[in-house]
Amino acid sequence: MKIQLPEKVNRIITTLQKHGFEAYAVGGCVRDSFLGRVPGDWDITTSASPQEVKEIFDHTVDTGIEHGTVTVLMNHEPYEVTTYRVDGKYEDHRRPNEVHFTKSLREDLLRRDFTINAMAYNDSEGIIDMYDGMTDLKNQTIRCVGEAKKRFDEDALRILRALRFSSTLNFQVDPDTANALLEEKAKLCNISAERVREELIKLLCGQNCAQVLRAYSTVLAVWIPEILPMVGFQQHTPYHAYDVWEHTIRTVEAIQPIPVLRFTMLLHDIGKPNTFTQDEQGIGHFYGHGAVSTEIAKQVLERLKLDRKTKESIITLVKYHDIRCELSPIWIKKQLRKFGADLFLQLLEVHKADITGQNPNLLHRLEDIMKCEVMTKEILSEPTCFSVKDLAVNGSDLIAIGFSQGKMIGTILQFLLEAVIEETCKNEKHELLQYLHQNKYLFTES
Ligand code: ATP
Ligand code: MG
Repeated sequence: MKIQLPEKVNRIITTLQKHGFEAYAVGGCVRDSFLGRVPGDWDITTSASPQEVKEIFDHTVDTGIEHGTVTVLMNHEPYEVTTYRVDGKYEDHRRPNEVHFTKSLREDLLRRDFTINAMAYNDSEGIIDMYDGMTDLKNQTIRCVGEAKKRFDEDALRILRALRFSSTLNFQVDPDTANALLEEKAKLCNISAERVREELIKLLCGQNCAQVLRAYSTVLAVWIPEILPMVGFQQHTPYHAYDVWEHTIRTVEAIQPIPVLRFTMLLHDIGKPNTFTQDEQGIGHFYGHGAVSTEIAKQVLERLKLDRKTKESIITLVKYHDIRCELSPIWIKKQLRKFGADLFLQLLEVHKADITGQNPNLLHRLEDIMKCEVMTKEILSEPTCFSVKDLAVNGSDLIAIGFSQGKMIGTILQFLLEAVIEETCKNEKHELLQYLHQNKYLFTES
């Protein structure tokens, strides 16, 4: 079996071989190549020590030299070359106390997390598969190299990585590995928020995400315990065919695999269990759940250390997730003003996903949102005014007619914007100034 190695990767491997060392492409890139996927990066493993790698190549950077990784620059393109390594004892469930270099490829592959990630390849020897990764790749199985419980105990991040690969590759977790990860899940709290976040984002954006969320909610709950009350929480309303967690899962699945959107769906109803009431007819209500979900979402996103911009977008989308769409250009322009074009379009996506996950018999409710989406795109395709910077007048124009610089200018521009959106005034300089003149009593400066 042959992999098409990129020319520069092959050059690094053959250069190391010419100097008497072993070298292979290893891990994710080998796995992805056999799956017909484009690898994100190409890692190289070698018997040469970091010092020897540095002597052989002209341009190198000491990226993680203490762990044996040297970055080799080939025409400015970086490739990570790591010396065969054995991890020492793990005491904190996340990092080995020390690493040792070894001359044995077998030992290096043995330290790797899953069999599908423990294969090496070069053109002269072909595939090196000591732990039966190819069988697992064919059977679409995630299986630990060695004893699963021990591997998760050493480094608990592997628990989340197993679920991440199950989600992104649409593979099943082998039963032994699955049992072990469930047993060891509590150790995930030893892992840093940043590392958890990265795996969680990939997990949420995977094609098999729904199945993973369904089967492993208790694992996610180590970091997001707020999801547990959603599991099995009956809604008692004709709008919903599923409990809150199953609804959540279906909405995650229904939206594009973009972190902001997937996180929004995961969290949009997280406040529901706290707000549940039933009326005399037994119908369930969740008054104010948007606000409660927003508060919980803030805490979850803080905990996971998401960046500010992503966090703010998710929080806004959660807060307004059940906005009622009106099919009027004025209403749409007001929303564009409030949210900006990108976020408003995302809000419509959220709305669609929400309805898709509610009740298969009520999908006609999507129609209005789709009409709203079409109208929004039409509005956006024409020169249109929904923010102050689109107005045909600006602050200098107002100063030129006698208003003094300061807060008042902003207030007037907002007033004019409102008039343009409400279609009480055209977005033309002359008309705007005339309209302002007619209403100037509102802005008399003391
Ligand atoms: P991708 O880059 O597509 O996210 P990957 O499998 O390449 O997936 P990386 O995090 O880049 O994942 O790691 C490269 C390789 O290093 C893995 O394929 C695996 O062999 C090994 N590896 C990574 N993290 C661990 C870990 N926590 N425990 C053991 N081996 C690991
Ligand atoms: Mg990788």
